[in-house]
Amino acid sequence: MNIQKLIRPNILKLKPYASARDEFKDFKKSMTFLDANENPFETGLNRYPDPQQLALKLQLSSIKGCNLNQLLLGNGSDEVLDLIFRTFCEPGKDNVILLPPTYGMYEVLADLNNIEAIKIPLTSDFQPNVTDILEAVNSHSKILFLCSPNNPTANSFEAKSVEELLQKFKGIVVIDEAYIDFSESESWRSRLAEFPNLIVIQTLSKAYGLAGIRLGMGMASPEIIQVLNSIKPPYNVNQLTQQKALNKLENLEVITNQIQLIKNERIRVLSAFKKMNFITKCFPSDANFILVQVDDANRRYQQLIEKEIVVRNRSKEPLCDNCLRFTIGTPDENTKLITVLNFLK
Ligand SMILES: *Cc1c(COP(=O)(O)O)cnc(C)c1O
Repeated sequence: MNIQKLIRPNILKLKPYASARDEFKDFKKSMTFLDANENPFETGLNRYPDPQQLALKLQLSSIKGCNLNQLLLGNGSDEVLDLIFRTFCEPGKDNVILLPPTYGMYEVLADLNNIEAIKIPLTSDFQPNVTDILEAVNSHSKILFLCSPNNPTANSFEAKSVEELLQKFKGIVVIDEAYIDFSESESWRSRLAEFPNLIVIQTLSKAYGLAGIRLGMGMASPEIIQVLNSIKPPYNVNQLTQQKALNKLENLEVITNQIQLIKNERIRVLSAFKKMNFITKCFPSDANFILVQVDDANRRYQQLIEKEIVVRNRSKEPLCDNCLRFTIGTPDENTKLITVLNFLK
């Protein structure tokens, strides 16, 4: 598979911006830095951050079991996704394949970049329709987005289907694993060496409890990472974010415990949901949220708002008639939710 052929010609030709911190990397505290037009008075934040986020990448690559050159960090996964669009898709010419119902940002980014989105709905059990996907593909299909566990349906895609798509789709396959830490299925990042067209996306926004700092990551072959890296804004991950992320990653036990607690709560909330009359269907969850079908989504949504509980009304999404999405909260929050739901008329 020739990845270079998938890259837009202008990106292949691009000469990346070289920041001051790119040109002189040998950072020692004793040096006098008069190269970046920074304010010299020390505040802890007066210097530009490391454009390659080396300390943070070392930590993350050891946690994730990938090499440094297989890792790209972004201002949230949303930035990583945008970089992928701009690397591979020629506006007005190329297209991407989306499998609704899924994460809304893929379509927003396609529209923003003037890229056609070919939509192949999931099957009724929320799995990729492999035959239809492969049939819809044409020579301008550059990226296939697989979100697994999928948002908003909460299920993981069958490994067999994903593997078939990785083998047969002749473009880039992005597997968005924002919820992988809550899942029983294994991350596809361990298969990077087998599939040169695979990009795995993960984030610190969900399981790691750091949505506020905006840190997302892409993992792929060194060839792909190098191109994405060359077009990213030079200082795309700010100093505060790098520091906060490093602090958090020092104590993984806290995160592991929270994930386990959320998974236990998921079982408790789900079994409570199953006893409620107005909930007509509970979909199985491999994530930190549950999708349910109710008798009247708009009405139930409003009733919850009146009780000061905000959930996500997904009933306008394909295959999601009258569906609400509930994030798993703290044990107290979940108890409050269950109590409120039990008293709804
Ligand atoms: C929440 C979420 C993300 C996270 O995006 P960030 O920009 O990293 O916060 C990515 N993909 C999916 C499917 C999500 O639900």
